Amino acid sequence: MDAQVKEFLDKVASRNPHEPEFLQAVQEVAETIIPFIEETPKYKKTRILERMVEPERVVMFRVPWLNDQGDVEVNRGFRVQMNSAIGPYKGGLRFHPSVNLSILKFLAFEQVFKNSLTGLPMGGGKGGSDFDPKGKSDSEIMKFCQSFMTELYRHVGADIDVPAGDIGVGGREVGFLFGQYKRIKGEFTGVLTGKGISWGGSAIRPEATGYGVVYFAEDMLATRGETLQGKTVLVSGSGNVAQYTVERCIQAGAKVVTLSDSEGFIYDPAGIDNAKLAYLMDLKNEQRGRIKEYADKYNCEFFAGERPWKIKGDIAFPNATQNELDEEDARTLVRNGCICVAEGANMPSTPDAIHVFTEAKILYAPGKASNAGGVAVSGLEMSQNSLRISWSRNEVNSRLRDIMKEIHSICVKYGTEKDGYINYEKGANIGGFVKVADAMLAQGV
Ligand code: GLU
Repeated sequence: MDAQVKEFLDKVASRNPHEPEFLQAVQEVAETIIPFIEETPKYKKTRILERMVEPERVVMFRVPWLNDQGDVEVNRGFRVQMNSAIGPYKGGLRFHPSVNLSILKFLAFEQVFKNSLTGLPMGGGKGGSDFDPKGKSDSEIMKFCQSFMTELYRHVGADIDVPAGDIGVGGREVGFLFGQYKRIKGEFTGVLTGKGISWGGSAIRPEATGYGVVYFAEDMLATRGETLQGKTVLVSGSGNVAQYTVERCIQAGAKVVTLSDSEGFIYDPAGIDNAKLAYLMDLKNEQRGRIKEYADKYNCEFFAGERPWKIKGDIAFPNATQNELDEEDARTLVRNGCICVAEGANMPSTPDAIHVFTEAKILYAPGKASNAGGVAVSGLEMSQNSLRISWSRNEVNSRLRDIMKEIHSICVKYGTEKDGYINYEKGANIGGFVKVADAMLAQGV
């Protein structure tokens, strides 16, 4: 590792002990950005990256709520307001037992670059709680969300900080959070995105991350004269992002053969068609069931406790969660002929896995570029709320398509190496960085 990069990372590590995910995300950025800063005079001696790794503000709070038995439960809530140089803080809320400061800081840090890449005026933030929604009743979810917003409301606002969903936070939770904000503040504003379509939400928001990651993969494949038509696709996860990835893959003529959840993965060699997808959506969204039930219904294999990367496929969409694809998985994918990996999740590939992909010179896109469609349509939801209008599905989808194309072009511009290989990771980091860094420098210390 470059001595300057090492010195920088040692300093960040000593200031942020016990935050492995955050350090991982910072290292991934520092390795490409520090050399770029060194060769760009206007950024030298500004300590701009050091400023960017320090959140503008972190809020941590108590979330007490009553369960269905009438007992008191206590969780911890967070909002990391990372960077507001180019717009109000923007980023999702994650409700999952693994949530801690390290995970939210890594997500907020990535969000800054991702939001910048969308070309829309959004800063970066992330929040959530260690609350586990699994097995909770609707009433418990509502009580938790109301308690969470009873503190969060004083830190957010349509022009201050606009949260949305992430793992464990979907339309139902956004509804409860929005209702509580409105009750306390007495105003109807676009304080959250991912709202229901009849109360200020945007068309295509549920589909946006999944559609966007497939659009991005199509643009990557096009650089090698390839398309999705006839390709075998591996998808991990089975939530919102995975579902609309499958939908768009089917439309593009590809065959998706895997899906997963925390208990294991299903392998359906015949491919997931529209009828199976409709079943999956009902299973996951309405019944809140497990992916194993898909294997039972369609009589295909379920691999308990495993991840889909050992299955042979042309394209992989890691759409579940951070660090779900390691070096060995990456080697297996490459050995099995995988030509393209586009991340729908945030930081699903470990640094060693990314190294395997770039060494093998296959197409690899980091989540901050390829999954930006979700937050991009959130940005469009904010615009529609400000204008007090709502655009049609076609209008939003065509804007989403253009935004993903533009992000791809930015990655090509900043990431193309001497031998012609497009390093999307480098391209996304530099492309996301310049806009935020320039804004911070213009606004003074
Ligand atoms: N949680 C999503 C992400 O990781 C969406 C955030 C948003 O819409 O604000 O980008």
